Amino acid sequence: MDASWISWFCRLRGNEFFCEVEETWVQDDFNLCNIAQHVPYYDDALDMILDVESTRMNAMSEEQTELVESAAELLYGFVHARYILTSRGMAAMYAKYKNADFGRCPRVLCKGQPVLPVGQSDNARATTVNVFCPRCKDLFFPKSSRQGNLDGAYFGTTFCHMFLMTYPDLIVAPEDGGAVGAAGAAGAAARGRDGGGDGGYVPRVFGFRISKLSHYFGGDGEPGRRRAKLAADKAAAASGRGAAPNGKGTARPKPPPPSGAPGAGDGAGGAGAAR
Ligand SMILES: [Zn+2]
Repeated sequence: MDASWISWFCRLRGNEFFCEVEETWVQDDFNLCNIAQHVPYYDDALDMILDVESTRMNAMSEEQTELVESAAELLYGFVHARYILTSRGMAAMYAKYKNADFGRCPRVLCKGQPVLPVGQSDNARATTVNVFCPRCKDLFFPKSSRQGNLDGAYFGTTFCHMFLMTYPDLIVAPEDGGAVGAAGAAGAAARGRDGGGDGGYVPRVFGFRISKLSHYFGGDGEPGRRRAKLAADKAAAASGRGAAPNGKGTARPKPPPPSGAPGAGDGAGGAGAAR
């Protein structure tokens, strides 16, 4: 055999979104934990992916071989979804992104912005893969219908957004898209607040929504400053608590008045209650 199964599979037409998962990574049982229960003919499928010749596979009928082949595709998809969350996997996807292998945003004002593959579910056979534009932060169907038939779970809900947080220089400011882009981003932010009740797309990482203040949404590192401020407030509250035993149960430390951030009152109140 001249090429490995993985290389062959990733070069099939329509499979261009997949990166090649390193065989050594697949060989590590730890990385495949809990996948077996979701894949039929798991052992044979794994042998197929890793090009392991087995007597059992050689004795299979054509029909059985087809079943194992489709199981191998499912297994590779699950493995791929995990691999692309690792630093090696992200690097492989970075190269593909830079090459615009996932296509470009069809919106005129996004000016050919390369997109990233994303699933709307981490469960197999729930949705087909979509592409996400880092500029307008919206979802689209892949340009090619072959690619569009891939299972969204093979890319997962998290990868695309974790990728952008890992390579923050790839996040494009929405203003660059013009008035429509800014309105779209504002709309997306508004939808994000109410959890996307109107069907708007809400980017999530491991199920958690991404802070609207973060660099991801064009923020300026505000959360970092806010965290520092909260820490300072906590320290202030703690020093207040240290003084408290003298006036036992009487004088609650007053919330620091001037800054007025919601966290400040909470922190001081919390410290008072904990005493
Ligand atoms: Zn776009």
